[in-house]
Amino acid sequence: MSRPAPRDDLRALIGYHSPQVDVEVRLNTNESPFPPPAAFVARWLAELGSVPLHRYPDRSARLLREALGASFGVPASRILCANGSNEVLQSLLLTYGGPGRRALVFEPTYALHAHIARITGTEVVVAERDPDTFAVDPDAARAAIERFRPHVVLLCDPNNPTGTSDGPRVLDALLDASSDAGPALVVVDEAYGEFARASAVERVSDDRPLVVARTYSKVWSMAALRLGYAVGPEAVLGEVESVLLPYHLDAPTQLAGMLALDYQAEMKARVSLLVEERGRLLGALEDLPGVTPYPSGANYLLFRVHGDGHAAWEGLVERGVLVRDFSRRPRLAECLRVTVGTRAENSRFLDALAEVLAGAPGGGSARGPERVTAPPAAREGGTR
Ligand SMILES: *Cc1c(COP(=O)(O)O)cnc(C)c1O
Repeated sequence: MSRPAPRDDLRALIGYHSPQVDVEVRLNTNESPFPPPAAFVARWLAELGSVPLHRYPDRSARLLREALGASFGVPASRILCANGSNEVLQSLLLTYGGPGRRALVFEPTYALHAHIARITGTEVVVAERDPDTFAVDPDAARAAIERFRPHVVLLCDPNNPTGTSDGPRVLDALLDASSDAGPALVVVDEAYGEFARASAVERVSDDRPLVVARTYSKVWSMAALRLGYAVGPEAVLGEVESVLLPYHLDAPTQLAGMLALDYQAEMKARVSLLVEERGRLLGALEDLPGVTPYPSGANYLLFRVHGDGHAAWEGLVERGVLVRDFSRRPRLAECLRVTVGTRAENSRFLDALAEVLAGAPGGGSARGPERVTAPPAAREGGTR
């Protein structure tokens, strides 16, 4: 069959698929290790019964936006909801990027930022994070903005996969330089904002071109539902409406997002627990000869393996523990990223890593004869 050719610029994009290897301990995609609170699930299921399924959902997700706005103390007009924060980012790039326009990213960072930008036809320009600390240097950021004159500046804070929190000084530099050079839209991806000390949400106002993207996927334990949102100036978010598909956000998801906000205390307790476990993991990794962990403001830790990072990743998989392998990504040589899981999962990971680094043979006798082996596809990068 002769078939139509897809867009030329899509050929250059390699597929981005998260490896889904079947192992006991999955610490590779930064999800919450806990399901949502049972009381929330019960209420959601009960209220779903009265959702009129033959009607389109509330097109502007008004009730959800009002509830989210109230939780941040901002009007609903400064909230935009979408299918995961990835759709928030895509919509912002469709509106403020696009052919002939540029988006600036600070590498190494979340691979989907550059990927989504390219899908929307936006040219990607790159500034470097510090190779040792992975921090964004405010002066270097300013210089990059003056040089590239981007239309959109994307900052991931805390940064995935390095865990780096850049904070207010860097944000100030970005806002300053962006208003001189354009002005550009500054987008801060705070997918892990709940785990960090500072948030850019409080800097959002109607007279500043700043949008903060957040998600229910991680701390809210709702990755399966696909709900993200942006907090930004009313005028900026208003423009985004022109690229959204009508009724893009389904009614069950809107309902879940609203009800979840009644469980803030549970969410905060989970954050505290994971932050505590993050501290324990960091301490243990620091004590482990042969690895260098990086401090993190999120629910994961990046660590460098002295020697062969990919071999260490394989050794972990053989012991039933899946982490993310960045060892062959530019700027992240020999680095792996572990999501903070339950206490038991984290201990399994630490024990397995200690074994791997001690050079014990894979699939040690403790695990029995059946070795867990990753299919070749799992050795390539994923999205999260
Ligand atoms: C996980 C993650 C997201 C979340 O994407 P959703 O589409 O909301 O699931 C966004 N940004 C970063 C940096 C992430 O790691």
